[in-house]
Amino acid sequence: MRVDVITVVPGMYPEVLGTSILGRAIATGALDVSVHDLRDWTDDRHRTTDDYPFGGGPGMVMKPEPVFRAVGSVRDMHPARPRVVLVCPQGRPLDQGLVRELATEERLLLICGRYEGFDERIRTLADDEISIGDYVLTGGDLAALVVIDAVARLQPGVLGHEDSAHDESFSEGLLEYPQYTRPAEFNGMGVPEVLLSGDHARIARWRRAAAVERTAIRRPDLIESADLDEDERAHARTIIEERKRTQDD
Ligand code: SAM
Repeated sequence: MRVDVITVVPGMYPEVLGTSILGRAIATGALDVSVHDLRDWTDDRHRTTDDYPFGGGPGMVMKPEPVFRAVGSVRDMHPARPRVVLVCPQGRPLDQGLVRELATEERLLLICGRYEGFDERIRTLADDEISIGDYVLTGGDLAALVVIDAVARLQPGVLGHEDSAHDESFSEGLLEYPQYTRPAEFNGMGVPEVLLSGDHARIARWRRAAAVERTAIRRPDLIESADLDEDERAHARTIIEERKRTQDD
């Protein structure tokens, strides 16, 4: 997968993209990331990318001309047509379903905002606007890195163990079951006996039930759309109702 990023702060990327799993994904060619400095598409001595908002108000707004020029020229740098994504707090909230969808694209082009955001006309360049949560960052670069990190780990060969991405949180609309490693006894806290039993069928049943319970407790909003059988759904609903009753009391 190829990802292009257009940003005014390209210096934020090398450390993150060169480290750990992302670094390996790029080194092995599973992921190809090109970071482009928006200032290369400015046409004034100061390499200006922002200007005052019409109508007044605080802060500066990203000028449309450099962004239009940058998107036009970055798009042509590779034969695959990119899905153009504007990272923006007003966009579609990023979740694992959307990550899975983005991860199947051959190419993404991420446009990062700064200052008080984009001139509205810049939005016409985007196929999607994506938010990483209901809070406001100083710029889109951390959001772009979140998108890159999340899609990278779904590329074939990126995770050491191919099942890692199947079992984890949100894979079937559920949070992941509790995990333990050695030692089996730590500070007076043990490990559920079933996990030490070596009985893989029992372990799988325990993990599934624990994932359903954990999701019902921590994220009841996920239960209705989770992939559950009838018994699991009934059990989850009971947990949710009991918790509501105790909270109301
Ligand atoms: N004034 C804008 C608003 O209220 O929507 C916020 C601008 S923010 C300070 C600057 C840039 O950071 C945005 O253009 C966007 O690219 C990025 N950004 C901030 N919060 C974000 C979020 N939650 N998700 C994705 N991008 C975000």
